[in-house]
Amino acid sequence: PAGSLKDIIAHAKEYGFVFPSSEIYDGLQAVYDYGQYGVELKNNLKSVWWKAMTMLHDNVVGIDASIFMHPLTWKASGHVDSFNDPMIDNKDSKKRYRADQLLEAKAEEYANNGHPERGETLLNRMGRLLDANDLEGVRELIISEGIVCPVSGTDNWTEVRQFNLMFSTQVGAVSDDASLIYLRPETAQGIFVNFLNVQKTGRMKVPFGIAQIGKAFRNEIVARQFTFRMREFEQMEMQFFCRPGTEMEWYDKWKETRMKFHQALGIPASKLRFKPHDKLAHYANAAVDIEFKFPFGFREMEGIHSRTDFDLKSHQELSKKKQQYFDNDLNEDGKPYGNYIPYVVETSVGADRLFLAVLCNAYTEETSEDGKTRTYLKLHPAVAPIKAAVLPLVKKDGLPEKAREIQNQLKYDFNVFYEERDSIGKRYTRQDLIGTPFCIAVDYQTLEDNTVTIRHRDSTEQERIAIADLKAKIGHAVSL
Ligand code: ATP
Repeated sequence: PAGSLKDIIAHAKEYGFVFPSSEIYDGLQAVYDYGQYGVELKNNLKSVWWKAMTMLHDNVVGIDASIFMHPLTWKASGHVDSFNDPMIDNKDSKKRYRADQLLEAKAEEYANNGHPERGETLLNRMGRLLDANDLEGVRELIISEGIVCPVSGTDNWTEVRQFNLMFSTQVGAVSDDASLIYLRPETAQGIFVNFLNVQKTGRMKVPFGIAQIGKAFRNEIVARQFTFRMREFEQMEMQFFCRPGTEMEWYDKWKETRMKFHQALGIPASKLRFKPHDKLAHYANAAVDIEFKFPFGFREMEGIHSRTDFDLKSHQELSKKKQQYFDNDLNEDGKPYGNYIPYVVETSVGADRLFLAVLCNAYTEETSEDGKTRTYLKLHPAVAPIKAAVLPLVKKDGLPEKAREIQNQLKYDFNVFYEERDSIGKRYTRQDLIGTPFCIAVDYQTLEDNTVTIRHRDSTEQERIAIADLKAKIGHAVSL
């Protein structure tokens, strides 16, 4: 079917959105580069998120913390001890898998064949075994379920080992244990360790939030599905600090706010759903994913977690620095709430996963009555890489000069594109393929009356408007 992951990958490559990393050396698995249009789309998504978080909430401010952090950070957060995935190898094919994913796929197979309860039972058994770190039990479960390697077709499995997903490196010239540092596997910890810095210098009152966009790194065991699972990726996270006991209110509020955000980007409600976690992480007392219907099924795009005071408390223990807030609001007894470690609700979305979701959602193939197929990206104008293309009908008689004049009028407000090569039809097609919402054609009439035709990407309809009205028209469309 049109819009398969294969179509999306091919389109992204062909039209300058996403390239495999170091492609001339045959690429690097699960690492990608954004091309000339991809970077615009991704930057727009990041900027819309940033504004939605900080400008629309006067109690949310941003920071930009480093990728490298003191190694004890990751001890406190639990990542050194438990940021693991169980891996298993097939001895015949030498292929490596995530043991939990093999079992999840089996559970999905049961569900698809009309036995969802068998799938549930399987997942529960797996959950119990993993909780108990019974890796031999996990292996036995894989074998008793008759799971074979898709490549070799055999069930000749190795033992299951826990694999820590953090990348590490040495800092400085001396290599010893003290110089071992990690590439952050999440951006959240940069926010936690700066909680008091921001609270004090910004005179923030709980409840308040800190937002951050930045790179994160995970040595994923199996990294397929394009930018869905990368080893180097970008997260957009917000930690919201609140009074203990109020966290569920904020959790519900942020769930709703974040769902609306995705819909405002033009993703229909039918392709989004909440998926509560069956199994809570060690730090959470409530957790839900916002899933998007990718071409390979509903999968996590964003996580919303109520993290209690787990992180701040562990940092307080390890750093021996108080992570408390003094709340002078009065409680029911008329006394100040006093000192406490705030509870945290976080919203965490991958910029690359959101990018992929938005791209998949936008990819459209339409066949008209004459049997011709038109492919275009139905991107929300607010995130489209190029907002308008200015196209002189012909390359002579002063039309290019007039078109350049229009480009110059618009370029300080919008990312506009100028092109004079090839027929106007071909130029429209190229803009459709990268999702440009407006094409402005400059013709002979323009020279006489200062009007242009503006073509709308989705309907392909054209209307005649005054050059003087272009800015307002485009400006209106590109605001969210
Ligand atoms: P998954 O279960 O898919 O591995 P996760 O539950 O480990 O994801 P979180 O730790 O909650 O993910 O990270 C928050 C968000 O960061 C995810 O919702 C996702 O959008 C993004 N993310 C996590 N890992 C990756 C990755 N390897 N590549 C791209 N984005 C990622």
